[in-house]
Amino acid sequence: MIDLRSDTVTQPTAAMREAMAGAEVGDDVFGDDPTVNALQARLARMLGFEAGLFMASGTQSNLCGLMAHCQRGDEYIVGQMAHTYRWEGGGAAVLGSIQPQPLNHQPDGTLALADIAAAIKPDDAHFARSRLLALENTLGGKVMPMAYLRDATALARERGLACHLDGARLFNAAVATAGEGGDARTAAREIAGLFDSVSVCFSKGLGAPIGSMLCGSQAFISRAHRWRKMTGGGLRQVGVLAAAANHALDHHIDRLAEDHANARLLAEGLAGLPGVSVTTPQTNIVFVELAPELAQRGERGVVERLAERGLRCTGLYQLRFVTHLDVSREQIEQAIAILRETLH
Ligand SMILES: *Cc1c(COP(=O)(O)O)cnc(C)c1O
Repeated sequence: MIDLRSDTVTQPTAAMREAMAGAEVGDDVFGDDPTVNALQARLARMLGFEAGLFMASGTQSNLCGLMAHCQRGDEYIVGQMAHTYRWEGGGAAVLGSIQPQPLNHQPDGTLALADIAAAIKPDDAHFARSRLLALENTLGGKVMPMAYLRDATALARERGLACHLDGARLFNAAVATAGEGGDARTAAREIAGLFDSVSVCFSKGLGAPIGSMLCGSQAFISRAHRWRKMTGGGLRQVGVLAAAANHALDHHIDRLAEDHANARLLAEGLAGLPGVSVTTPQTNIVFVELAPELAQRGERGVVERLAERGLRCTGLYQLRFVTHLDVSREQIEQAIAILRETLH
């Protein structure tokens, strides 16, 4: 089975499991876990922040971040398709009493600066207090241009807003931004440096079994630490998981370029099929639009028909394929063959 449903389906490698098994651990609720402490210090330093906080998931990391930035009755400005708005159960509103102000995206995934400016509300009792601009990079696999990130965060700052980045796939963005021969770590630091806080997932393309990290100033992380405890994220000998994340930072950043190349190969392999439209992927996510007659044949949806032939993906009229460290170039070639047999 070739599983392209998500880059979260990866198995920890043998070397990662070894790093986990050998991790020195302690009770992290007491702040005693040396592997967690080292990982927090490492990623914070790498991205140019004072502090980091290991989280169970990206959702928890974003939620604690939003709640550390905003009080009850504040609002955050966010894209309609942003994970923190659309795919996290409305947690900021439900648990944080933070009002989202969603904006439509431009075709490249950015938010128009004029739309951001127009959404920032004056200090008036009628309105929620505009406190935060929350961006995402990558967003649906799209890389946000550096110039846009600079302009949007500068605009937010001028108007007194803080800036949060949902960088679940920050390193995919960094590898793509740095380009061939460029340094992904420098690019990651440049992107992160525009924001007051950044959340990064270890469990996506980096291939760890679990874990995210929120980075920011010491004062910000202290506030987030209380919310993490309250949301059930005070974990104990969690160094076994931090060791996996640490291994991923050592070995799985630069190889993201292979996932991006595989995604392009997949997209190119589907070019020219009637009723099928593919946009060139910028990172590791390929979206394929299907004509209705291809998507549904009688009772059987295309996802089911592909799975029968050994290829897993998600979607219906628009299929999503995500490349990751457990799929090889050969498997992508097989996936193309399966898709070409199925989609006609
Ligand atoms: C996956 C993802 C998250 C949430 O991560 P979980 O660990 O699944 O909670 C947040 N933001 C983006 C952009 C993501 O892709």
